[in-house]
Amino acid sequence: MRRMTISRLALGTALGLLAVSAHAASVSRLTPPSELFASGTADPIISRFLPGQRFDLQATVRPDEGDRVVAFEFFVDGAWINGPLPLGGGANDSRLARNSLVTETGAADTCLRDGKTTGASGCVLAAGLPSNTTVVSFRGYSNYSAGVHEFKVNARTANGRTISANGNFEVVGLANGGRTAKNIIILVGDGMGASHRTAARIMAKGYAQGKARGKLAMDTFPYSGQVMTASLNSIVTDSAPGMANYVSGNKANNNEEGVWPDDTLAAFDNPRMEYLAEYLHMLQGKSLGIVTTADVFDATPAANAVHTSARGNGTGIVDQFLDDRSKTGLSVLLGGGRKWFLPNPGGNTSPQPVNGSQRSARNDYVLPADVVNGWGAAPGKLDPERDLIGDFVSAGFAYAPDNTALNAAFARGTPDKLLGLFAYSNMNVSYDKIAARRGNSEVVDAFGFPDQPMLDDMTDKALKVLSRNPQGFVAMIEAASIDKQAHLMDTDRWIHDVIEFDRAIAVAKRFAEQNPDTVVIVTADHECSGAAIIGAATVSAAQLAADKLAGKSVVGIYEAARFPRYTMNADGYPVTTNIDNKMLIGYGANADRYENWLPNRFPTRDTQQPFPPAQSPVNPNVRNKDEGALITGQVAGDQAAHTGSDIPLSAFGLGAGYFTGTFDNTDVFFKLGQIAVGGVQ
Ligand SMILES: [Zn+2]
Repeated sequence: MRRMTISRLALGTALGLLAVSAHAASVSRLTPPSELFASGTADPIISRFLPGQRFDLQATVRPDEGDRVVAFEFFVDGAWINGPLPLGGGANDSRLARNSLVTETGAADTCLRDGKTTGASGCVLAAGLPSNTTVVSFRGYSNYSAGVHEFKVNARTANGRTISANGNFEVVGLANGGRTAKNIIILVGDGMGASHRTAARIMAKGYAQGKARGKLAMDTFPYSGQVMTASLNSIVTDSAPGMANYVSGNKANNNEEGVWPDDTLAAFDNPRMEYLAEYLHMLQGKSLGIVTTADVFDATPAANAVHTSARGNGTGIVDQFLDDRSKTGLSVLLGGGRKWFLPNPGGNTSPQPVNGSQRSARNDYVLPADVVNGWGAAPGKLDPERDLIGDFVSAGFAYAPDNTALNAAFARGTPDKLLGLFAYSNMNVSYDKIAARRGNSEVVDAFGFPDQPMLDDMTDKALKVLSRNPQGFVAMIEAASIDKQAHLMDTDRWIHDVIEFDRAIAVAKRFAEQNPDTVVIVTADHECSGAAIIGAATVSAAQLAADKLAGKSVVGIYEAARFPRYTMNADGYPVTTNIDNKMLIGYGANADRYENWLPNRFPTRDTQQPFPPAQSPVNPNVRNKDEGALITGQVAGDQAAHTGSDIPLSAFGLGAGYFTGTFDNTDVFFKLGQIAVGGVQ
């Protein structure tokens, strides 16, 4: 990022035009991000908001050596929105409540005592910054006036200097009138690109002389578009901004959710942008439901309700789900991840506590006062000993540890709120859950959770609970292991999970048919693995099994691929994926792997599990080492990676027609805002 110095800012205004000094006083970061600040050009607008959507203003100010910041103020369109706020103004100065001036470079405990920090890493500034660097913030700003706005920070220094910088943002106006959608259902196939959808259709429906014998539920949606998935800092996103961009309207950095990057080390104090669920809860009283087959702390579920720059900070993430439920309207949380909810009184995660807990103060938080005041957020606490399931139950949530309990929770009528944690971490994939339902439970038994629901069961239950709110809801339903198994290049397992996802989509579609004030979108946060349908085996399943080193020689391409024909069982899944002349998948973003074109008996090691089964192969570059042909990839490490390819989006229900053409992931937020707040003509 180019830095805007005092001398540069002064160019247009002063006689000092030629007196460009060599001093380094500058604003090195200005938030929300803008091209006006980064490059001096007004376009394109980077940060956009719905009317009244809250966000933080923040600047990292670097005075000259020997100088220091003593006060600061922010302006929007020339109007003073705070200040000037003096450093050390005192706790009784109400003007300071939503502002902060972080200069500490000392020990974390000093910061904790001053109530300015978030967790164990403290309010310490990032390494490499001069010690007089100051981060100034105004929290929870909002603007109702549509159009492009310019904002400015002034930092005043002890030496009488004013250090300034300008940026811009846009408030996107809504057209009013027409019907508004009461319910929003966002179905995310994590990592699901066009190839993943096609592969599931080929497996589930088959082809006759070039014509598909049927469509997936997602294929029946009447509108579709193509989504650009880049994050704030890369053409290749991970799941944190991949999800957050959809539901905040703004670009986040990789590994960050609901926040922009900053210059402090603390992971929960970053400048925030309000999520769709928070905005619609504040405006309309809607509820939020989150359903995932992943650990609920994972990036996609968390990036609907939790604000952090570290997607891995599980303890703080799950605490924020509960503690800020009055901001988000969270009333359904279903998935894996029990390890973050179980008490860990010692706070140690190594060796693993016998109850499976991985709660730790190291990834928990205490929020600085300005965030608490600006957002009405719960301050948080470093509490590895917390019994979070107990706290959810005390807050009125029915709790289900397995599928039997999930069904039982509805036997006495639909609960108001629902928590389901069906595994220590990520749930087992449908390939292994279905095997258990058909009598072979060795995998789910080895993970210790033999009675896990399918995603369509979870979706049905979540929609029942959420429907109890007459103001409507936002539901995010994620098929997480399409991505996770694509990373592992476990072809049959991820295709199976797309089929599981499609059954959940069918549930959501039926709901929208019965509740026509509902909009449903099916999309992905990004593509994973560069998967491609390269053809089909030229040999039978028995021959594949007999000659596991056959490698590329059995890949039938073009007309040699013909039409693989799977048989579907009454449960909705293939009788077997090991058919004669089975479909074969190649990977464009692959690491090295040994390939025999057959699924392993056990899924590949999931490092998130506190007690991973010993039978799992460690990773794809040793899996089948003695019984598969080596296929070398171009990505380092042992897993396939995400790609920067656009992904397909399908839409159904009220306002679905907005989702056509090619658009940015952040555009989805404004389309949903129009449908839910402005209305559909
Ligand atoms: Zn991924």
